[in-house]
This record gives sequence, C-alpha cells and structure tokens, in this order.
Amino acid sequence: MLTRRKLLKRITAIPFLGGLLGSGMALPAVATAAAAPAKRNVIQELGLRTFINAAGNYTSMTASLMPEEVMETINESSRHYVMLDDVQDAVGKKIAALCHSEAAMVTAGCWSALVLGTAGVLTGKDPKKVAMLPFLEGSGMKTEIILQKTHANGYHHALTNTGARLVLVETLEELEAAISEKTAMMWFLNREEPQGQIKHRTWIEVAKKHGIPTMNDIAADVPPVENLWKYNDMGYDLVAISGGKALCGPQSAGILMGRKDLIEAARMHSPPRGGNIGRGNKVNKEEILGMYVALETFINRDHDKIWKTWENRVAYIADTLADIPGIRTETFIPEIANENPTLKISWDKDRVKLTGKQFGEKMRNGSPSIETISWESEDYIRVAVFMLEKGQEKIVAKRLRESLLETVG
Ligand SMILES: *Cc1c(COP(=O)(O)O)cnc(C)c1O
Repeated sequence: MLTRRKLLKRITAIPFLGGLLGSGMALPAVATAAAAPAKRNVIQELGLRTFINAAGNYTSMTASLMPEEVMETINESSRHYVMLDDVQDAVGKKIAALCHSEAAMVTAGCWSALVLGTAGVLTGKDPKKVAMLPFLEGSGMKTEIILQKTHANGYHHALTNTGARLVLVETLEELEAAISEKTAMMWFLNREEPQGQIKHRTWIEVAKKHGIPTMNDIAADVPPVENLWKYNDMGYDLVAISGGKALCGPQSAGILMGRKDLIEAARMHSPPRGGNIGRGNKVNKEEILGMYVALETFINRDHDKIWKTWENRVAYIADTLADIPGIRTETFIPEIANENPTLKISWDKDRVKLTGKQFGEKMRNGSPSIETISWESEDYIRVAVFMLEKGQEKIVAKRLRESLLETVG
C-alpha cells in the first residue's frame, strides 16, 4: 500500500515526467510502477520465517489459514460501515440455525466465549450486575462453578475472569454434595470426557435436576463435523468453540452458542457495550462475518473425501520413509480433540542419534522450514497432514527422508 506521503510525491512527479516526454525522452520505468505498484509482502519485508504446517492448529503457529471465501468476505465487508450489533444479530441467527442452537454469537476466540458465557450466566440481563463483575461478594449473584478435577487443566482459568470461584469434584457423590444455592454453572471440558468419572449424559441430567446451566468447551473438537451440533442436541445450555482452529476462520474469533436468554446475557458483556469485564473481547465486523462464512464453508465440505485425502497424505509420507533402516511409522488418530490422521515416526535409538526435539529442529531449520509435533516425546515425532496445502505432503516426505538419512548410522 502507498503511504499518503509517497502518493503525494508520485503525483507531483507526474508533470515532471510529462516534461520529459515532451522533450522526446523515453518514459522511465517509474511511471508504470506508479500506475501498478508492486504487491507489498510485509512478511518478507520484516524477515519473518514462514513454514509448512505439518503440526496442526497451534495458537503459537497462527493455527490455520483462512480459505478464499473467508478472505473475500473480510475484504468486501471492510469497505462498509454497519452497526456492530446488527452484524452479531444477523450472524448469530445463521450460526444458531447451522448448529441447532437457540442463539449464537461470535466471540474473540473460544476463551472469550468461556468468559462471556460465564459472565452472562452470573448476571443474566441485569445491567447493574453486568457492571459489578468481577466483584461478586454481596451482589446477590451466585458465585461457584463446578467442574471435574480432570477437566481443570488450564482453559478452566477463563471462568475465573468473571470473579467466579471454582469447585472441583471427582465422583457423582461429590458432585451432588457440591451443589448448593451458590452454584452458578456446571462446566465440562469436552476433550477430557474419557478422563473424568462423570460423562456428558449424567453431567447434564444432574444439572437439569437442580436447574443449573451447563457449558461445554469443544474448542478444538471438529472434525467430526457433527460435533458442531451434537452437544447442543444433547442438552448443554452453552457450547464454546474456537474459530481459527480446524474451522479455518479468523484466528481471533470463536463461537458461543446455546440458550437464547444466556446468549443475550453474554452479549450484555460484549462490545459495543463498555464499562464491563468483556470490553476487551471485541470482534470486528470483518471477523464476525468471516467466522460465519468459515463455519458455513466447513460444514459444506465433502468431509469423507477430505478424510481420504488426509489418509492418502499420511500413506504417501509413510511409504517415502519405509525403506530407511530402523524407522517405524504408524498412523495415529487422537481421540476427540484434533481428531485427524497423523503419522507417528519413531526410530531405533542406536541407529538414529536424534531426540524428538532435535528432529523437530532439523525440520524447522531446513529449507523449506517445516513445523512438526516434536515436543511430545524423546522417541518420536508426529506429522499432521490436515493443515497442509495441496501437494505439500511431497515436500514434507522428502525433507523427512533427507533429515533421517543424514542421521541414520
Ligand atoms: C484452544 C483452546 C481454547 C482457547 O481457544 P482460543 O480460540 O484460542 O481462545 C480453549 N479451550 C480449549 C480446550 C482449547 O483447546
């Protein structure tokens, strides 16, 4: 893009060029450059490293790339003013219909959905209460959120942004005993379901019996695509998901969906309203609309066909490494979160003198740079293929092979 200053300079240069032309001199190259300025590449300009993403949706790696449909929406909508609440209203209705919920809103990521959803549960639509958060003492609001101990591994911290206190339980008996007039909500971390003693159905059943709202965090839990509506259908009052992970929406967007009264209450905490804890959870119109189109594009994909493409990529990489002595490959599909085929590559320690981390660094420092899942173990790395662009599996396979052959003894 031209800065204003550069533009002024070029405009003043034109009569001068005209003068040159008049004097019979050839038109200098700068005149055509001014008409069609070379496309600026800021990533290159700043010397930033780009890489092939064979790791997956990691926030630190900027998670995912937005498809063309989403970028067109973002660019087109950036040229117009609309009322922020009107955008949320319209998009919320569409998302709710797509995901079988009563209502929905676009949030500033899944974390933001957890904060705003919890805030709404605590205050309802009472503006005085909205202004009080995070100070719940003496407000008359309920103050406690119950969750299972195995679900408390980091993301649950979002709930405490509202001022709520967490109560951890392990057994059904402990859950029943923990419920009191102070209980505001029961929170579930979807990907930890297998680790907890209390499963979805029981969690919802107990909550309904006591009239307590429930929330399920499914941040990284598509595919399968059905998960977008499964937990709404199951009876959760609120469901939160990341927009920029497998949904390939804007990285700083997410979705909160669920009961109409609770979504309306969550909206009371979010911009354009200010003077409340949610003010920092702003999402611009471009991202709200981009999130909607990303969700729609994701749902409309041919999921079976894409899954086969992923399997083929994994098989291609495995085949490329098959004849290297001491190397083993295995297809590994994580259960629940980031559920897609990955290739686990391990090696005989006496033949290949590498730790997982060193192998990861070799891939990162080569050309082109490739990110893999290299921090899980000393003994293996994993390669995810669902974020690869078409044909990149060939480059990944070649570089993995070269790196291993350099090291193999
Ligand atoms: C990634 C993640 C979040 C946070 O989501 P953002 O969209 O990055 O805000 C919350 N919960 C879980 C389980 C996650 O994996």
